[in-house]
Amino acid sequence: MRNIDNIYIDGRFVAPHGTETADLFNPSTQERIGTVILGDLSDARDAIAAAKRAFPAFSRSGKSERIQMLESLSAAVSARSAELTQAMAEEYGAPQYFTGFAVANAASAFLHMAQVLGNYEFTRRIGNAEVRMQPIGIAAAITPWNSNYGFICSKLAAAIAAGTTIVIKPSEMSAIQTQLLTECLHEGGLPKGVFNIVNGRGDVVGAEFSRHPDIAKVTFTGSTAVGKEILRAGADTMKRVTLELGGKGPNIILDDADLNNVIATVLGMGLVNSGQACVAGTRILVPESRIDEALERLKHEITQFKTGLPTDPDVRVGPMVSEKQYERVQSYIRLGLEEGADLVAGGLGRPEGLTRGWFSRPTIFTNVRNDMRIAREEIFGPVLSVITYRDDEDAIRIANDTDYGLQAYLHGKDMARLNDIASRLDSGRVVINGAPHEPLAPFGGFKQSGIGREFGEFGLEGFLEPKAILSPIAQ
Ligand code: NAD
Repeated sequence: MRNIDNIYIDGRFVAPHGTETADLFNPSTQERIGTVILGDLSDARDAIAAAKRAFPAFSRSGKSERIQMLESLSAAVSARSAELTQAMAEEYGAPQYFTGFAVANAASAFLHMAQVLGNYEFTRRIGNAEVRMQPIGIAAAITPWNSNYGFICSKLAAAIAAGTTIVIKPSEMSAIQTQLLTECLHEGGLPKGVFNIVNGRGDVVGAEFSRHPDIAKVTFTGSTAVGKEILRAGADTMKRVTLELGGKGPNIILDDADLNNVIATVLGMGLVNSGQACVAGTRILVPESRIDEALERLKHEITQFKTGLPTDPDVRVGPMVSEKQYERVQSYIRLGLEEGADLVAGGLGRPEGLTRGWFSRPTIFTNVRNDMRIAREEIFGPVLSVITYRDDEDAIRIANDTDYGLQAYLHGKDMARLNDIASRLDSGRVVINGAPHEPLAPFGGFKQSGIGREFGEFGLEGFLEPKAILSPIAQ
């Protein structure tokens, strides 16, 4: 049993003022593995005060100093990657392919930002104006449980590169992971108060960060519903926001695609992070002319997506993070059946052979219409919908007929055609033929998938405010 009984404020691990506790679980076994003492309003305010004290000096720090800090944080995270991996497997249940990516990605977020910072011009001239990109003010980050390290590190990296101090509220369900990561970040040796990390409830600590007048900017990753609350809470003080919200990504198979090859990729994109991913390609769009062939391949390939414990290196789908999330996924499978969709694979209950743990069966529905709730709402589990289309125009129409617009996937042979379709999708990212992640390219959503962009130069500029200083034109 772990008892997480401290938070990180002003460069120190301190006992929270809050006394409420939350239980922590191993989702693979449903066992209670720890507790966390949650911070309260007073802790949230102490963290903001520490960030405020640190801001004047830190906002004047130089590029090379900040690059050094980013490098040192990256090294500190890398140094404990084995323990970080272990904690993520235990508290979140992610399969090994995902923990491996997530921990390396968290450490490299700092190096990517260091690279961006090294090349970034904070001052540019426009006519008789000198435009200076100035640190935005104290930032708050609020993050979800589905990739705890990566979200904390990428937001922290951008804040540091910009010269802003930050308060961070991670998900209360990830406290063991957060504790370990915070110990790593502490080793980075940054000036006190530059970053502060407070475990706490969303409606307490998160809400305070979202409305406090000393917070200039909120960077949030989480559900669209909470994103809207944060936007409303920040309106009074006109907070800048970056909101990375939900998704219902189209996963489009074109009629020239080689189904023997692409279906594994299609499923990989749909079931990424056990389906608990905003970027998951959960709507599989198949040409009417190839539906029988596609269903046959899907039925076969999904058997390759082994569900089970993170200790098994062959596992591709882990448990749902919590009982609540498991029940939510089950309720959507029930809903799909009620709505008249047909099962290609999976269904209700646990996969065969697993008697405990919040495991849901990787499930594919066919005969899904895009107006069914299973095609419109983010399920956040391993549940995919197959929707047929007539031609490319129809595929584009269905793909864009959604409230979301985060990440879309295209599979086919003709690059000109793929690029043309990509240009017509309302989506922050379009991934062609399973292309790898590009950590310096902007990431974020159209429509209700969010506001703003993270990563690379776009991510850095989310923490900067342009100031134009106009001088008389020399005679
Ligand atoms: P969530 O919105 O419930 O919670 C996210 C964070 O917000 C948590 O730290 C939570 O405590 C906090 N929070 C809750 N209520 C709050 C309030 N009133 N004010 C301020 N903060 C509050 O999301 P979740 O269940 O932790 O994560 C799953 C969701 O995250 C999914 O919808 C998923 O699509 C989304 N997500 C988006 C991205 C992206 O980059 N676009 C990435 C991962 C996850």
